Amino acid sequence: MSRVRRRDTKPEMMIRSLLHARGWRYRVGVKSLPGTPDIVFSRLKTVIFVNGCFWHGHVCKLGTRPKTREAFWAAKIETNKLRDNRKNDELASRGWRVLTVWQCELSNTDVAIRGIEAFLEASKQHTIGSG
Ligand SMILES: [Zn+2]
Repeated sequence: MSRVRRRDTKPEMMIRSLLHARGWRYRVGVKSLPGTPDIVFSRLKTVIFVNGCFWHGHVCKLGTRPKTREAFWAAKIETNKLRDNRKNDELASRGWRVLTVWQCELSNTDVAIRGIEAFLEASKQHTIGSG
């Protein structure tokens, strides 16, 4: 598992530094939350997972599986997907908003960051609304 995560750190670092530069403050490596989300906005009760398309089974070009050992990869990726779903459910049941950012979406960082910021702004409304 930790091996999988380390492969995903590059896009994650990119998002972090972009968000930081735009004034967003967050925590990382919050182990008390299900799945140890990549980026945590405590006050907004919002987390971001940055997923590598291949390992997390995204249906896109980057998520294309090798033609060899198909059953092996299918099983491995299916396990990851189930784990993703489970941690998202757990977080949601604790009142957290979850945003998944896919590696392939970062080919256009401007669009990606705008999407993330829109989600965070919506979280603010959420937080204010619930008092
Ligand atoms: Zn993708």
